Amino acid sequence: MQLKERLALVNSKGFMPESKFGQNFLCDEEIIGSIVGLCELKKDDKVLEIGPGLGSISFPISELTDDFTVVEIDKRLASSLKDEFCLNANVITSDFLKLNDYGADKTDVVVSNLPYYVMTDIMKKLFDECVNARKMVFMVEKDALARIMAQPGTKQYGPLSVLVSLYGDAKLEFDVPRNCFIPAPNTTSCVISLTSGGSKIPGGFVKLVNKAFAMRRKKLVNNIKDAGPVLDKLGLDVSVRAEQLTPAQFLDLYNAIIENAHKG
Ligand code: SAM
Repeated sequence: MQLKERLALVNSKGFMPESKFGQNFLCDEEIIGSIVGLCELKKDDKVLEIGPGLGSISFPISELTDDFTVVEIDKRLASSLKDEFCLNANVITSDFLKLNDYGADKTDVVVSNLPYYVMTDIMKKLFDECVNARKMVFMVEKDALARIMAQPGTKQYGPLSVLVSLYGDAKLEFDVPRNCFIPAPNTTSCVISLTSGGSKIPGGFVKLVNKAFAMRRKKLVNNIKDAGPVLDKLGLDVSVRAEQLTPAQFLDLYNAIIENAHKG
């Protein structure tokens, strides 16, 4: 069954796409095929999809892996996927941001046409928890790209750019025009792929980076008190601000703070 048929069926039962959940469903077969291809799936991969919606990406993925979990906030969509459309996946009905037990550390591949209103928080949670994932493929708002791939010292540079950079290689794959969705969103979208560089983002690191940027204009030491005693050792000036640190320096800062805490 194609997306349009699934949509017609749920529409006939009173379902209307909710903009509050960012429900813009992908209906272009070529784009869907490209996204699935970018995931480079193996049959025994544990795959996670956030926001399956009406299953545009989920159905083709379910044919390529035996271990597939999808997390959908909208109860009506989740139950249609499970009961009506018989998606071959573990369907979890939940706000992903509140979800704990989903086998995060065993996840190999993550894919999502991200709901744009929570894009940043979902990506941060994935970097924090899916520490062994080798690949993440996301549809994001084109306007968010500058923030995702920003360089240190720029206005756009923040926690998300630090995390993306430390995770591995980030690549803009292609743009997706508005008419590839039902209903059409207000902005152009694009697909990015992230390939792990092999090193894990350590526990507590996401929290530290969030804290560092909490008040951008303040000195780093004002946002993170524990940074004070280790700045000198790292060759950083006491007046340094978070946006001046490279992703690698953030990692050094994290390690130095932990080391210092163990000493004390
Ligand atoms: N994957 C589908 C596609 O490509 O057509 C739907 C993508 S749509 C842009 C985003 C989906 O994420 C919607 O189905 C929406 O209900 C779901 N969603 C929104 N917020 C969510 C959250 N916090 N946790 C889980 N799912 C969420």
